[in-house]
Amino acid sequence: MPLVPQRADVPVTIDESKCIDGCTLCVDMCPLDSLAIDAGSGKAYMHVDECWYCGPCAARCPTGAVTVNMPYLLR
Ligand code: SF4
Ligand code: SF4
Repeated sequence: MPLVPQRADVPVTIDESKCIDGCTLCVDMCPLDSLAIDAGSGKAYMHVDECWYCGPCAARCPTGAVTVNMPYLLR
């Protein structure tokens, strides 16, 4: 396990240790197609740094692996 498992400077971070192999719910939910499944690890990740902070990716993840890092000005 790396000391810093996720970057906090992208809009959405995914905890790979919680992401279920074969699940694509968050990828399917995103209206911008910003999320994808990494071909190597089989885990979801943000492949386009674009986000509406709308939230269904995090809301639909069955394990709570998805975190939407809401910008301070939008909170
Ligand atoms: S918050 Fe919305 S736009 Fe951003 S990654 Fe999730 S579903 Fe996509
Ligand atoms: S919804 Fe959760 S478990 Fe499913 S692919 Fe996305 S991060 Fe992984």
